[in-house]
Amino acid sequence: MINKKVEAAMNKQIVAETYSAWMYLSMAAWLDEQNLKGFASWMKVQAQEELTHATLFYNHITDRGGRVQLGAIEAPPNEWKSAGAVFEAAYVHEQKVTAMINNLVELATAEKDFAANPMLQWFVKEQVEEEKNPSELAARLKLVGSTGDGLLRLDAEAGTRTFVYPPPVLAGAAGEGPAA
Ligand code: MG
Repeated sequence: MINKKVEAAMNKQIVAETYSAWMYLSMAAWLDEQNLKGFASWMKVQAQEELTHATLFYNHITDRGGRVQLGAIEAPPNEWKSAGAVFEAAYVHEQKVTAMINNLVELATAEKDFAANPMLQWFVKEQVEEEKNPSELAARLKLVGSTGDGLLRLDAEAGTRTFVYPPPVLAGAAGEGPAA
């Protein structure tokens, strides 16, 4: 049985991961409007990934006899100054998500809810990628500036990203069940 405090925090995390998906989709919409189709596509993939993050927490609560209770999703911003500003905002956002994951690890440990550990450790590792990707793209966008060939080249490169189910979903690890 899942610890009730951990269950409540994971329910909040479902909302946070779903908000992330919502925010990345909003970023995709703005990038599409700027005709930066590659970056927009990258953000749509990121949004899909965030929904799998929410699903991992959903499955974990359910598998352990807990109760999923969904909260409200805030409206995300829908205007940015540049593609660089979009990825900078994504980087700042992921640092907040990392702090939430770290708090969950701390709570699960304090409550001796050790069954939550394997999944939470996967998220700890995943957050390294989640911070690195937008931070690198923001830095590279800074290098090329806001117009010209460099921007379109980075846009094309970002557009090659494809969606892959996260390993715990594929492996059904930590009681998450088989791939959807
Ligand atoms: Mg996430």
